[in-house]
Amino acid sequence: MGSQWIFLSGEFVRKEDAVVSVYDHGFLYGDGVFEGIRVYSGNVFKLDAHLKRLYESARSIKLEIPYSKEDMEEAIVNTVRKNQLDNAYIRVVVSRGVGNLGLDPTHCNNPRVIIIAEALALFPKELYERGLRLASVSSRRNRPDVLSPQIKSLNYLNNILVKLEANQANADEALMLNDQGYVTEGSADNIFIVKNETIYTPPVYLGALEGITRNAIIDLAKEYGYDMRQEPFTRHDVYVADEVFLTGTAAEVIAVVEVDGRKIQDGTPGKVTKHLLSAFRNIVKTDGVQCYPVTKSNAEV
Ligand code: PMP
Repeated sequence: MGSQWIFLSGEFVRKEDAVVSVYDHGFLYGDGVFEGIRVYSGNVFKLDAHLKRLYESARSIKLEIPYSKEDMEEAIVNTVRKNQLDNAYIRVVVSRGVGNLGLDPTHCNNPRVIIIAEALALFPKELYERGLRLASVSSRRNRPDVLSPQIKSLNYLNNILVKLEANQANADEALMLNDQGYVTEGSADNIFIVKNETIYTPPVYLGALEGITRNAIIDLAKEYGYDMRQEPFTRHDVYVADEVFLTGTAAEVIAVVEVDGRKIQDGTPGKVTKHLLSAFRNIVKTDGVQCYPVTKSNAEV
């Protein structure tokens, strides 16, 4: 494959030329929103749900995305096609655009839209077989009434700080609590536990992003007849769970086998986790929007 093409506010430019101004408030202040989306065999998985979340995040920060959802969908599909990708990770970024050095976004009149699609560096197979080690961290999840975790904003410092703490503890991922001590999520994934055949994930109001993979897993769990509940739980509940797993666009469904130095049961991925991963992988090629074959609307790219 030749050079990578980036969609930059309406044009395809080469990766080397895809640059934005240092006065962009996305860069200066983390003022903007984004999505991470996956393509499986040319199928943009759950594209509608990702677009809904992107536009809701933007509405929440009063950022007007300069495209309709339909045009954004077309731009995303065209970016995948332009780069001739079958399996990919897509990053959509909408930043507030160029302003002055002051905070006030009213001086930013041109939001920037960036779409990057690249071949995916998959999580190694061994990681799914071995499972992850988590460390609970001292930084708490942003409070929903301060900076809502539902806004997938360019300000990811809360998540980066906990990732640093996890690295420090030699763990693969962080376990974030809220200010009441209830479990919320990982730095970039939602968390589930299984106890006595029942599956639990924290309700999003506690301070978790409403993950699209999370929602897909909730639906699949119900479809397969599991008792699936969205209820608060604590770190203790995680330590003594039968199974623990994380979900996310990049991670899909991945077992957690150790938390804060405590093994989860025998320290190997559990059967519910494995079942839900395989059920998930069965739907990813069909539940979304196909980029191929060429349709009239995207034949010209
Ligand atoms: N929580 C956070 C903080 C995230 O950044 C992500 C990744 N977008 C997730 C959870 C998982 O969400 P999704 O399944 O939509 O990728």
